[in-house]
Amino acid sequence: MSTQMLTVEKLCASYGAAQILYDIGLEVGRGEVVALMGRNGAGKTTTMKAVMGLMTQSTGSIVFDGHDVSGRQPYEIARLGLGFVPEDRRIFSDLTVLENLDIGRQPPRKFSDGVAAPVWTEQKLLALFPNLGEMPHRPGGRMSGGEQQMLTIARTLMGNPLLILLDEPSEGVAPVIVEMIANTIVELKKAGVSILLSEQNVHFAELVSDRAYVLEKGQLRWNGTMAELADNIDIQRAYLTV
Ligand code: ATP
Repeated sequence: MSTQMLTVEKLCASYGAAQILYDIGLEVGRGEVVALMGRNGAGKTTTMKAVMGLMTQSTGSIVFDGHDVSGRQPYEIARLGLGFVPEDRRIFSDLTVLENLDIGRQPPRKFSDGVAAPVWTEQKLLALFPNLGEMPHRPGGRMSGGEQQMLTIARTLMGNPLLILLDEPSEGVAPVIVEMIANTIVELKKAGVSILLSEQNVHFAELVSDRAYVLEKGQLRWNGTMAELADNIDIQRAYLTV
């Protein structure tokens, strides 16, 4: 049985007449953290939306945990255990931390080969995110951007996902929180969570990722191990923010 969690082939996507993605191919293995890298507008968010079934105009093949999900509806894909943490942090501002977490709750899951996926509880998540643990009754609207980002990740984990798409978790949050988020991703990896991470900052990606794919203008320009990318200044200068 394959331990591939996500296999994307020849993915193309458009907004109206504007084609944004051209023949993207990528893979995420079980337990891997893979960075999808590129500057603003390279197509990272569009790739994640297409994988999640949110791009109405897209073609290509997307296989998630052995299921062909190409052309499936977002709710069907979510139900199979694909978690998406969008860049714009959609928490409920009137609800408290605990209430926001409760909304994400779904039963424990198994991978298609019968192996149990990591199981998350509120207790475990408040320990993993000590900031949230200190403010269980605070309304979402009264939290900082970084705390909201953590809450969005924690709420997605409450769904016991098999794989998480994490869209630019370091974007617009204070450096101290960026470091905490990086540490948390490392902890998630240790717990066996598989993650496809969108990121433009090579230093952040290097802290947490096993492998990387580099996009420019909706096309895949490079892929390899994160260590190779961290050493490859030419690729970084050409396609990333350094
Ligand atoms: P960012 O870091 O800015 O989110 P990104 O790599 O995630 O960058 P995308 O958001 O996927 O990039 O955008 C890729 C391209 O698609 C950009 O040229 C952008 O202008 C275009 N685009 C994004 N959303 C739309 C939309 N709703 N309608 C039309 N074009 C869009």
